Amino acid sequence: MWTAGWRDEVWARLSGPWDILIIGGGITGAGILREATRIGLRALLLEANDFASGTSGRSSKLVHGGLRYLRHGQLGTTIASVGERNQLLREGKGLVTPLGFVYAAYRDDRLPLWLFGMGLAVYDVLGLRWGHKRYAPRSLGRLLPHLNQDRLVGGYRYFDAQTDDARLVLRVIREAVAHGGIALNYARVDSLLRSADGRVRGAVVRDTAPAGPDHRLTEVSGRTAEVEAAVVVNATGEAADGLRLQLGGRPRLRTLRGSHLVFSDERLPLTRALSFAHPADGRPVFALPWEGVSLFGTTDVDHRQEPGVEPSISSGELAYLLDGLRHAFPALDLAERDVQATFAGVRAVVDTGKSDPSRESREHIIWKEQGLLTVSGGKLTTFRVMAHDALRAVRAELPRHPGFRLHRVLESSNGAPGRGLNPSQRLRLAGRYGREAADLVAAAEEGELVSIEGSSALWAELRWAARAEGVVHLDDLLLRRVRLALLLPQGGLPWLERFQAIVQPELGWSDRRWSDEVEAYSRRLRRAYGLPSEE
Ligand SMILES: Cc1cc2nc3c(=O)[nH]c(=O)nc-3n(C[C@H](O)[C@H](O)[C@H](O)COP(=O)(O)OP(=O)(O)OC[C@H]3O[C@@H](n4cnc5c(N)ncnc54)[C@H](O)[C@@H]3O)c2cc1C
Repeated sequence: MWTAGWRDEVWARLSGPWDILIIGGGITGAGILREATRIGLRALLLEANDFASGTSGRSSKLVHGGLRYLRHGQLGTTIASVGERNQLLREGKGLVTPLGFVYAAYRDDRLPLWLFGMGLAVYDVLGLRWGHKRYAPRSLGRLLPHLNQDRLVGGYRYFDAQTDDARLVLRVIREAVAHGGIALNYARVDSLLRSADGRVRGAVVRDTAPAGPDHRLTEVSGRTAEVEAAVVVNATGEAADGLRLQLGGRPRLRTLRGSHLVFSDERLPLTRALSFAHPADGRPVFALPWEGVSLFGTTDVDHRQEPGVEPSISSGELAYLLDGLRHAFPALDLAERDVQATFAGVRAVVDTGKSDPSRESREHIIWKEQGLLTVSGGKLTTFRVMAHDALRAVRAELPRHPGFRLHRVLESSNGAPGRGLNPSQRLRLAGRYGREAADLVAAAEEGELVSIEGSSALWAELRWAARAEGVVHLDDLLLRRVRLALLLPQGGLPWLERFQAIVQPELGWSDRRWSDEVEAYSRRLRRAYGLPSEE
């Protein structure tokens, strides 16, 4: 539990020495921390902003085998992904849930429907579940009301899974912490430490959190520490080239942005997910029911926004996505005014110079350069596979590395106690909070074990996150711990007074700090989670 004073305690222990230092608190870093602690390594993870504040909190939230890999003949990758998906579905109930899909094919699509069907057959065989079925146009319309029937040639029903990506990252990190790992957010690695022969032996870290609960947001602590470790892992996602360049290497990564639109489920009602080829370029796009809202994405464009600035959707991407939606659901007449929120994430892929960004490989990469292990690319779904590959690559540097045994991806959660919760609320808490679900329920005050209107999150989750989940800023709470920024209209701003009554005392913030946080949060919503014209 990260309760009051935990940051100072961690800072007092930072210098190490550690077996492994992981830079970056997205799913890649979280997975490596988790697997390293599982095999008994002394492991530290440092995250410059908040956990999952990078791409791992901005994905399409699918836990999937990757049908796209099949199209590119990468059978091995699909086998691994489908296996991980199935295990996550079994062990992460309440966090990873099955999702029914409809694939709709139209007359001028580049991919013939029979070929898609063949891919699904292989997918189901690999996943040991025969779930796909072909449908004629009219029956497809019954599966998914409002679907465009014009030029529809038919389609398929099939199954995959989805999750709350930021909560998945946090659950993996919290499990690692329970096994003795250390993770710290708002701890930016500024530079790498190197020994006389040039090998990386650690890093210099700077505290970017405000110095205290009554400090202004600009009054950051700024304290620094030198951290020594036998192995240093660069899991900084789109920023990975930045650390590599400190070693004198050449840039090797291409950064691609994918954006999503969020709608209320009244404006975009979905009984299941829809996948279809965007009429403009034939790329697969997805409309997904998620946590009571509907998501639509994604784009795939070179990311040329300023480095270090939170990515946001461009007007070109907005137009592309709305065109796609109007093609699939013309009767809904969706327009800019219906967009409740937007979000954008950036993936790093190996730059091979392809003119079409979507043709660059999405497989994860592992590079070892002068003692720095860079792990990037890949997917949420395969975080454990990536972590094992990374730890195998540094086995020689870790004499205490005892090797891996087959085990669970997520630990058993013991469930959440009853206390008036209905079964789906109990499952939700068990999935999101793992073994801490019982503490969350015990911490709830009168009337807090009910859902916040317009979402399935409970009021008690806000209290728990503020008390025990390492919240430093208001957006950590509302964008990632409990995803109200995306789920409620206007990012939940109309609810802020009620949130304040619960979380301000837990965080110990002064009134001035609260109003600074609200202002910063509102600005962030406009700049990175709204329409491009609001920039
Ligand atoms: C639009 C989009 C949709 C996607 N959808 C899916 C999906 O549905 N399913 C799926 O399985 N995969 C999906 N992916 C892929 C998946 O989301 C990514 O592969 C994964 O999240 C990358 O995780 P990461 O930890 O490597 O990077 P990130 O999540 O970006 O984490 C890197 C972290 O490093 C931190 N950092 C950077 N510099 C420093 C520093 N100097 N010091 C300390 N910390 C630092 C950053 O703040 C950041 O939090 C999607 C990707 C995109 C772009």
